[in-house]
Amino acid sequence: MKSLGNISFLTYGCKVNQFDTDRIASSLSYKFNIIDDAESSDFCIVNTCTVTNKADNHILSDIRKLKKNNPKCKILVTGCMAQTNPEYLEKISEVDYIVDNANKYLIPKVLTEPVIKKKIISNIFDINKFNDFTIDKREKRSRAFLSIQDGCDFRCTFCIIPFARGKSRSMETSSVIDKINEFSNLGYNEVVLSGIHLSSYGNDIDSNLLELLKLIETYCQITNIRLSSIDPADTSKELIDFFSNSKKICPSFHISLQSGSSEILKSMKRRYRLEKFNDILDLIKNNNDSSCIGTDVIAGFPGETEYLFNKSYEYLECAQLDYFHVFPYSDRRGTKASSRKDKVDNDLKKERSKALRGLSEKKKMKFYKRFIGKKLTGISEKNSHARTRNYIDVNIKNNPNIKNGEVVELVIDKVEDGRAFGIYV
Ligand code: SF4
Repeated sequence: MKSLGNISFLTYGCKVNQFDTDRIASSLSYKFNIIDDAESSDFCIVNTCTVTNKADNHILSDIRKLKKNNPKCKILVTGCMAQTNPEYLEKISEVDYIVDNANKYLIPKVLTEPVIKKKIISNIFDINKFNDFTIDKREKRSRAFLSIQDGCDFRCTFCIIPFARGKSRSMETSSVIDKINEFSNLGYNEVVLSGIHLSSYGNDIDSNLLELLKLIETYCQITNIRLSSIDPADTSKELIDFFSNSKKICPSFHISLQSGSSEILKSMKRRYRLEKFNDILDLIKNNNDSSCIGTDVIAGFPGETEYLFNKSYEYLECAQLDYFHVFPYSDRRGTKASSRKDKVDNDLKKERSKALRGLSEKKKMKFYKRFIGKKLTGISEKNSHARTRNYIDVNIKNNPNIKNGEVVELVIDKVEDGRAFGIYV
């Protein structure tokens, strides 16, 4: 078939968005020539994130820059910003098409059939079923990402995601198993299971995450399964015990905490307190002290006084956590937290974020150093890197022609300037 032109993609935000872009690209690959350089393309799909104001501003600046340098390029904006704020995008002259999350599957039609409207928006909460798909076989990466759940039924007071992604819905378990096996057959050794709220997996289809993982353990040949992020509120002892007995689940867990202060957790409407979180960390580390545990922390949530921040910092310093992703609090339209009057000053948010990032770096290095001289297993990545099963990013110094995505054994011999160095053995 004759190509309808060059198309490029700009993707922002989480792994689920990256995964959605791959699906859209796959559906367009028969009609368009996919290229990397947006400034030489006839069409560009901008798959947006709207988790912070900073993300919004960054995306809008990229859109303007792209149109300025390539005025003929038709820009289609999709993703979470298109879902939550289409009215705003409509006013931006550089944007040619707007298609929300609910209608992403219509993107090929929008670009190829002139009768289709330029703006396709609907109510994301009308969607009750997971939108399944076929695997994109075009490009081989170090590991495969499989998004098995979408949406979230909770309402943390700072979070806009439920309004961008709708109700929680899950891929059928049989489809998850088939896809993991398909990835194995394509030569992948590791699959990352992701979702908007992965811990809700199965709630809508009479299943749950533990049940799914048990099936994967029995029916899949893949070497490694990694979980993107789980919610402490839904992390049971049974699930943790399963992790430690599993041959496939990598001992690296991202468990979203958000604050080291129980008062702040309460005002965020998180569904757990620090005692529960501590129990989870203890259980994981007691079962396997080589496990890496990371978390997300929001700095400067409304009402976070100096006293509460210090309490949170002290908690994080002592907790059995090995790194954090730190986000300065950002107002999101329509969320409960955005209407609070007790906001934290921007400079203070930056200062607190910096302090937390420094603490995270120290903890990460301490974790890395524990493994100097030990033989570890991992997956090779591009540019002479490997990622161990317990999530250590290792710069490889010898390079015996190992391809991307292979299972490798390595020894870390040095941790310096925030990086681990090692050799394949
Ligand atoms: S659990 Fe809370 S933070 Fe996570 S997606 Fe749902 S509302 Fe957002």
